[in-house]
Amino acid sequence: MSTEPTATTSKEPKIRLDRVGKTYPGTKTPAVEELTLEVQEGEILVLVGPSGCGKSTTLRLINRMIEPSTGKILLDGEDVTDANPDKLRRRIGYVIQQIGLFPHQTISQNIATVPKMLGWDKARITEQVENLLSTVGLDPDVYRDRFPKELSGGQAQRVGVARALGADPDIMLMDEPFGAIDPITRDRLQNEFLRLQAELHKTIVFVTHDIDEAIKMGDRIAILGDRSTIRQIDTPERILAYPVDEFVDDFIGAGSTIKGLNFLQVGSLKQVEYPSITSNEPADVGIARLDQAYQEWLVLTDEQRRPLRWIRREDLSGPIPRDGEIGEPVGETLRTDDTLFHALELMVQSAAGQTVVVDAQGAYAGVVDTTHLNQAIRRAQREAQLHYEELEANA
Ligand code: ADP
Repeated sequence: MSTEPTATTSKEPKIRLDRVGKTYPGTKTPAVEELTLEVQEGEILVLVGPSGCGKSTTLRLINRMIEPSTGKILLDGEDVTDANPDKLRRRIGYVIQQIGLFPHQTISQNIATVPKMLGWDKARITEQVENLLSTVGLDPDVYRDRFPKELSGGQAQRVGVARALGADPDIMLMDEPFGAIDPITRDRLQNEFLRLQAELHKTIVFVTHDIDEAIKMGDRIAILGDRSTIRQIDTPERILAYPVDEFVDDFIGAGSTIKGLNFLQVGSLKQVEYPSITSNEPADVGIARLDQAYQEWLVLTDEQRRPLRWIRREDLSGPIPRDGEIGEPVGETLRTDDTLFHALELMVQSAAGQTVVVDAQGAYAGVVDTTHLNQAIRRAQREAQLHYEELEANA
């Protein structure tokens, strides 16, 4: 089952592929068949799917490195299917896994490629190169005159991104940009890139075969099957909550529900009230609260309402000691802006299976346990299902 993109704006999409197809010469089956796809301005759309399904071909059709056999490509509503491809590519940054830096040019010269083609004056180019090096976290004084072979893989990939940003294009195409990098550097580059994108708001189409990278990087994800057919296109949270069919479910793999917890926050949980007592309150108040809540444990807080200990009924047989040395320490607490994934991690570590939540000021806000997670997951699944039922009803 495929679903139309969830375009909600009345504005033209930044990129629109209209029934685009590509059959390579000498082959019978198309690599891309009748693909219709919209990318909204400022979003990262990730194309993810098994090897050979047509992701790279699709990406290269957008800047016409590969000419489409059928269909139309529109940028900002303008049909560019027959536009001059060189001109087109200057508007569109392109980053690939093999980086493709020119080995006999310095880092500065590499980054200056497109600005030079566009005829920018020297001073402007120099300034742009310096800015871009700083933007991607490389000190211009150290790196501008180096050659590509004098860089680590991670540094070279940063230069690749800087070069793609050379003439400040509003569209970036990225083909497995962090694919060939060790996992730790890769994670760092992904985070840096997301930070950068939060400032730059480029429109990005990002190709990967790695579903976890797709989930991390995408505002939306298109899961592609053979011939680049869209099997599901949506936000990562909705795809995780509601894979539309077995193909998507298999592709996401095990643990989709748990991955989905990354998109839900502790603050979204309902009814996390749980009895507590402040150290200057009398012990019998604590007992009354335990009885009222049918609980065995109570959270002891200090006078500023910061949680201190878990205490039990028998800890309340006399006055609460000023030093609070009763019961068990509360351990690591959750903040309302923590993810439910983090909450799950703390819960499975805690003996009681429940964790104390504090607000932004560090004051006691309640307690969460696995029932809360279960409810949140079910709610997300129900909402996603309703969304798809509505889409189908309106189709
Ligand atoms: P992906 O990026 O998803 O791995 P590709 O877009 O690279 O997939 O390839 C899609 C299909 O097109 C594959 O079957 C591949 O073998 C074929 N293909 C890719 N490039 C060419 C080419 N230049 N000539 C002929 N077939 C090609």
